[in-house]
Amino acid sequence: MSLIVMKFGGTSVGSVERINAVADRVAAIRETNDDVVVVSSAMAGETDRLIGLGEEVSPTPEPSEMDVLLASGEQVAVALVALALQRRGVSARSFLGGQVDVRTDSNHMRALIEEIDTTVLRACLDRGIVPVIAGFQGVSKENRITTIGRGGSDTSAVAVAAALDADECRIYTDVDGVYTADPRVENRARRMDHVSFEEMLEMASLGAKVLHSRAVQFAYKHSVKLRVLSSFEDGPGTLVITEDESAMEDVAVAAVTHDLNEAKITIQRVPDKPGVAYQLLGPVGEAGISVDMIVQNIAVDGSTDMTFTVTRNDYQKAMDILGPIVKGIHAELEPDDAGRIAVVGDDSIAKVTVVGVGMRSHAGVATTMFAALANVGINIQMISTSEIKISVVIHEDFCELAVRVLHSAFGLDDENE
Ligand code: ADP
Ligand code: ASP
Ligand code: MG
Repeated sequence: MSLIVMKFGGTSVGSVERINAVADRVAAIRETNDDVVVVSSAMAGETDRLIGLGEEVSPTPEPSEMDVLLASGEQVAVALVALALQRRGVSARSFLGGQVDVRTDSNHMRALIEEIDTTVLRACLDRGIVPVIAGFQGVSKENRITTIGRGGSDTSAVAVAAALDADECRIYTDVDGVYTADPRVENRARRMDHVSFEEMLEMASLGAKVLHSRAVQFAYKHSVKLRVLSSFEDGPGTLVITEDESAMEDVAVAAVTHDLNEAKITIQRVPDKPGVAYQLLGPVGEAGISVDMIVQNIAVDGSTDMTFTVTRNDYQKAMDILGPIVKGIHAELEPDDAGRIAVVGDDSIAKVTVVGVGMRSHAGVATTMFAALANVGINIQMISTSEIKISVVIHEDFCELAVRVLHSAFGLDDENE
């Protein structure tokens, strides 16, 4: 008998009709005698609605109370799924994260799962009961409810699968697998039968929200067999595999991803001397803001421009932090330079990335990428590379066009579309 963890996303439990379809799917697997653990997200749109409510009551809400509020979305969903299963004669019980000992750190709204004590879950499975666990939430050592960041219930499911040593963790969602680009943007995108952990991790971190990036990391670290499938129709989905398992296809680029959730900040004419990057970015990091791409120009006249990106959520906070610091640096400048130092922000950007482990052995990927963008007149504002990806920042208006021309330039188009 195998143990399968089945995770359902917001759209998959978005209505009573869909919850019934989920229950049918779980009941069918249970019939084959497999042990099943279900992890559910909140119903589609619910987490956004709850965030809106919290922010309406308080413009600067206390994160620990926001977590109590946000966790309620998943509470509703698990109760409904458990009820739908019971109605089908499947013995089931809902659990909140804390009730099955999903222990996290105390960083509210972006907590990390530290461990899961499986005693309660094992006892439940031993009695033939299907546990239906609220994803996205846990409990801190201060005994407070925590949530683990938007899209985090994928990670909850993988963490549960790892703790129980499950045979497979299946992420059921509203597309039938991982595609060569977001199928909602590129209708010629193809479903991949498999994708390597490395590629999937880059894709997830660079905007392909089909999997939460920490879920991919966790699955890799704990050797969890991870598959993405449709909750609406049967099919093989996409299996995430290790690179040695992949019969490495002879392609340089496996997928194109895009991210519209970043903003760009440029600090002009900062002095070119040791410690300035720390002086500027240290306080940003201390405020819990992650900085992504960083570019610094060659110094001219002893000063340089520094540009970096942050998520749009953190954009205003980062600008507010940098204003006074830059003023301080400004005060140290020669009078000539003083007028020219400034912080310039731009939240109308998109980051578009090509990803592929094949890049390690193929030259010319950057040239093909830049030529494809140049041909349609798209201006590149920033570039960053790693061994298996190249990202560019462009104006957000050209995001879809860029995804499509790159998808085509790297031969990824499904010719049947
Ligand atoms: P869930 O609510 O089930 O967690 P998400 O909305 O988080 O679902 O993720 C599924 C969505 O991810 C799809 O609807 C699709 O638009 C988007 N997506 C982005 N990139 C990709 C990709 N490369 N392959 C598949 N889906 C993608
Ligand atoms: N409900 C949470 C969110 O909307 C978690 C998830 O869906 O994975 O972000
Ligand atoms: Mg998701």
